[in-house]
Amino acid sequence: MLRSSGPWTTAARRILPAMRAWRKSFHEEPELAYEERKTRDKLVRTLRELGLTPTVYDDFTGVLATIGAGRAGPVVALRADMDALPVTEASSLPFHSATPGRMHACGHDVHMSCLLGAATLLVRAGDKVRGPVRLIFQPAEEEGETGGAGPFLTRGCLESPTVDFVVGQHVTPEVPAGMVGWRKGPTMAAADRFRIVVRGHGGHAAYPHRGPDAILVAAEIVQSLQSVVSRGRDPVDPVVVSVGMIHGGTRPNILPETVELEGTVRTLRAETRDEVEQLILRRVRHVAKSQGASTRVDYHRGYPVLTNSPPVTERLVGILGEEFGDDRLVELPAPSMGAEDFARYLERVPGTFLRLGAGVPGPPATLHSPTFAPPEETLVIGAAVLAAATMGLQSR
Ligand SMILES: [Zn+2]
Ligand SMILES: [Zn+2]
Repeated sequence: MLRSSGPWTTAARRILPAMRAWRKSFHEEPELAYEERKTRDKLVRTLRELGLTPTVYDDFTGVLATIGAGRAGPVVALRADMDALPVTEASSLPFHSATPGRMHACGHDVHMSCLLGAATLLVRAGDKVRGPVRLIFQPAEEEGETGGAGPFLTRGCLESPTVDFVVGQHVTPEVPAGMVGWRKGPTMAAADRFRIVVRGHGGHAAYPHRGPDAILVAAEIVQSLQSVVSRGRDPVDPVVVSVGMIHGGTRPNILPETVELEGTVRTLRAETRDEVEQLILRRVRHVAKSQGASTRVDYHRGYPVLTNSPPVTERLVGILGEEFGDDRLVELPAPSMGAEDFARYLERVPGTFLRLGAGVPGPPATLHSPTFAPPEETLVIGAAVLAAATMGLQSR
C-alpha cells in the first residue's frame, strides 16, 4: 500500500469508482486505430456530463475539449491515446474484451480513464485552475507513420488558445505500480521504415551462373545492414536496424527474379537519423552493384525522436515530488528504442512524457502482450499526475 499521498491523489481515489467504470467500458469494447467511434462517443458523453463542450470531426475519431477556455494563466495540454491492438485477450482482469482479436493491450483504456479522471478533478477545482486546460483524446497512436498526432496537429489541437505546455503519460510494466518514471532529453526513438526490392535474374536454380541471384544478394544486404550499426556508427549513439520481413521465391528449384525486404530503423538524434538513412541507401546500392543486381529502396520517415524538455521535466519532478513524495519518482536509466507519436507534440511545444508505473509482482507481462493488465492503482496515480502537473505548471 502507498505511504504518502497528496491532495490530488486523495481526490483521485474518491473518484476511483467512476474511473473504474470508464476503464471497464473502454476495455470491453476495444477499437483499432482510426476506428474508435464507440470510444469517441463514450468520451463525448462523459465530457458533456462534466459540463464541457467537446469538439468532434467528420473524418477523424479524435476528441478535443477545453476546461476554462477564457482563463488568463498558462495553457496546459494533456493527451491520452485511444486505440487498441489486434491481440486476443488472455489477461487476469475481471473484465475482458468482448471482441476476439481486439484488446487494449497497450493500456490506452487506462490513459483515457486517467485523463477523464483528471478532467473531473480540474473541473471541480473551478477557478483554482488558473489557465485553460486542453484535453486531447488522440486516435491511432499505434499506426506508425500515419499515427493520430500528425492529423490532430493539422486540425489545430495545440491552438486557440495556444498551448504552452504539453504532458502525456504511458503505463509501463518496467516501473512498479505506484511509481512515476521520468527522463529529460531524448527519451524514445525515431522510427523509420524501409522497403528494399532486389532484382536479379530469375530462372532454374540448377544454373545460378546465368545471372545475379536475388536471394543471395538479399541475404548479403541483411548481413551488411548490421555492419551499418556495428561499424558505421559511434557505438555510444544507439541505432537499431532490424529486417522484419523477407519475401521471395515460390519453389526450392526456382531462383526468384525479385526479393523484398522490409525493416525498421531506430535512432535517438536527428543528425544520426539522417546519417543512418544515407548509410543504408549507400550500403544497399553497393552490395547490389558488387553482385550485378539492381535494387529499389523506399525509405519512410515515421515518428520523430521524443525529446522531453529538460526545464519542464525538472519542474514536473518537483511538482510530482510534492504530491507523491520523491521516493515515488524514478529517473529512467536509459532511453527506449520504442517510438511514440507524442513526439510530434513535443516538436511544437515544450513538455514531457511520463511513465506511469504498472509493474506488479510475478512474471512481467510486456506492453502489447495478451496478458498485459495494469493494476487499478494506475488509475488513481495517473489522474493525480495529470491534475497535479496541470496545477503546478500553471502556478508560476
Ligand atoms: Zn503500443
Ligand atoms: Zn501505447
